[in-house]
Amino acid sequence: MSGGYRFARLVLVRARGPLVFRAQCEVCAEMGPQAVTGDAAMMWAVLHLDDHPGHDRFRELSSTPYRAESRS
Ligand SMILES: [Zn+2]
Repeated sequence: MSGGYRFARLVLVRARGPLVFRAQCEVCAEMGPQAVTGDAAMMWAVLHLDDHPGHDRFRELSSTPYRAESRS
């Protein structure tokens, strides 16, 4: 949601800053390190598959920074 999230005591608004990308294995839920691009994040999948044959389903996660502001 680009407009933010409103709660009783505070609102979460989009903060400045880049998205953060990570890869996650869908078999064991392990996550790779944070990266600045999806391509860089998904490189972890290659290493993870080498270490865990059969773990062959992954997700690309991207996260957005938010800042909490008081509503009072
Ligand atoms: Zn795994």
